[in-house]
Amino acid sequence: MELHPGVRYLHIGCDEVFQMGECSRCRVVQRDKLFLSHVASVASFVRRKYTHAATNQPVIPIIWHDMLLHFSSQTMEEFRIGELVEPMVRTLTHYRLAMPFGKGSCHKRQNHKRRSVTTK
Ligand SMILES: [Zn+2]
Repeated sequence: MELHPGVRYLHIGCDEVFQMGECSRCRVVQRDKLFLSHVASVASFVRRKYTHAATNQPVIPIIWHDMLLHFSSQTMEEFRIGELVEPMVRTLTHYRLAMPFGKGSCHKRQNHKRRSVTTK
C-alpha cells in the first residue's frame, strides 16, 4: 500500500482456493464458513488499516465475484461479506467492479454477467 498511495481499492485475491480446511484444526469447520471467515478477516483488516486519502473513507477490498457465487445470501450475511468487499466481475477481456450486492446496477452489468459465464 505504501507503493500505491491514494488507491481507493485493494484486490485481496482469494481466487482458486483449492487447498483449504485440510489440517485437523480446520477440518472441523464447514468449508464455506472457513473461506468466508478468512475473506471477512482480511477485508476487515484492510478497511481498518487503510484509508483513501481523497475521501477519508476506508480502502475498499475487492474479491473475484465467481468465488462468491455459490454461497447463500444467509451465509454471506452471516459474515457481512456485502458490507466488507466489492465483487469484481471476471471476463475474458477485461475486469470491472460490480455494484455492491443488491444496490443499483452497473450500466454494462448484464453484458458482463453473460460474458463471465464463459470464463470458467
Ligand atoms: Zn488449518
